[in-house]
Amino acid sequence: MSIVIIGSGQAGFEAAVSLRSHGFSGTITLVGDEPGVPYQRPPLSKAYLHSDPDRQSLALRPAQYFDDHRITLTCGKPVVRIDRDAQRVELIDATAIEYDHLILATGARNRLLPVPGANLPGVHYLRTAGEAESLTSSMASCSSLVVIGAGFIGLEVAAAARKKGLDVTVVEAMDRPMARALSSVMSGYFSTAHTEHGVHMRLSTGVKTINAADGRAAGVTTNSGDVIHADAVVVGIGVVPNIELAALAGLPVDNGIVVDEYLRTPDENISAIGDCAAYPIPGKAGLVRLESVQNAVDQARCLAAQLTGTSTHYRSVPWFWSEQYESKLQMAGLTAGADTHVVRGSVDSGVFSIFCFLGTRLLGVESVNKPRDHMAARKILATEMPLTPEQAADTDFDLKLAIA
Ligand code: FAD
Repeated sequence: MSIVIIGSGQAGFEAAVSLRSHGFSGTITLVGDEPGVPYQRPPLSKAYLHSDPDRQSLALRPAQYFDDHRITLTCGKPVVRIDRDAQRVELIDATAIEYDHLILATGARNRLLPVPGANLPGVHYLRTAGEAESLTSSMASCSSLVVIGAGFIGLEVAAAARKKGLDVTVVEAMDRPMARALSSVMSGYFSTAHTEHGVHMRLSTGVKTINAADGRAAGVTTNSGDVIHADAVVVGIGVVPNIELAALAGLPVDNGIVVDEYLRTPDENISAIGDCAAYPIPGKAGLVRLESVQNAVDQARCLAAQLTGTSTHYRSVPWFWSEQYESKLQMAGLTAGADTHVVRGSVDSGVFSIFCFLGTRLLGVESVNKPRDHMAARKILATEMPLTPEQAADTDFDLKLAIA
């Protein structure tokens, strides 16, 4: 049996590794359009920006690993077409690879900012190791930076730039940072943290143009007409899933490649996992597409188990983390739609959690510097253990004992 995986990011890599660890003995071909071995992205907006870039530190495994495990790694060549009738994929260099099962792990790419000046030198995006290296080198010769977008990546970059002593302005269209993912209390905590670290937070305003001086980015003009000067600009306004290849092959797409609870597309020989996959979650309307290491890894493992004979639907508690200054944020569950937010601990101390409920049902937990709460939350959510808002607020109520 031959399994071809398109995309050698976190999900594609993990699928290959998990297939072998589940005893799959057939052919595995991992095709990626980026150069080099698969690597992890989370450090790109964190430690990688602080230190001298070292690609090897990012590698998920050294090149030898792929030879040792009979995983054929084809780098730097995008797949341009899937021929579902012939069960084969075609690469840009006209190579064709046949498959019995095809895994789409094509991830996502930067959402581009559609304003004048967005293509100037000195405008950075951050998805790949190359982009992180370009940003690091730019920051070394800059004294000021504008970050467009106060999402996780934008704010991690802002924190790294402040650590390097740059003057940093963050411009965000919404009225609070990380608004799509976090409760307003948590947004407020991080907004204050950035302000206290000297970041100029410009909320509720978009960017009209990226301005130029001497042919390079020199700052932005906001929608309200304010001109902010800077030596470089970072755009962090989210990503779009890489779905075109699937759509071209006639597979359904809807803000992601549509799969069922087994991560299968309607073509039983094709699955999709990771940032590119839109899948159903029991009890939640519509499809969900998550962008996290947990989602990429757990979906890859679930699919590998299925392809090697353990039929199991995908069910996992989503979790995510971010690091900004001395605050480590960890999130468990999906908190959108919560109507009750219970603080456990003290926000002012920088060590606390927010338990997010819809009525009496716990949807998720956001923790800052409280890894024990985070781990307990993942178990509570996985086991659907009943927890009341009163218990969550009571720091004498031992979460660990409750789930033991
Ligand atoms: P990707 O990692 O995007 O990999 C997909 C690969 O497929 C890419 O290499 C792409 O180029 C390739 N590809 C696409 N089309 C083709 C084609 N036609 N042919 C061949 N190859 C193709 N998550 C967390 O949980 N915590 C964090 O702290 C965190 N920090 C992050 C920081 C940054 C800067 C970034 C960019 C992401 C971060 N993430 C974080 C998100 C996490 O890295 C992603 O969710 C994860 O990488 C998704 O894995 P994936 O394999 O689905 O997609």
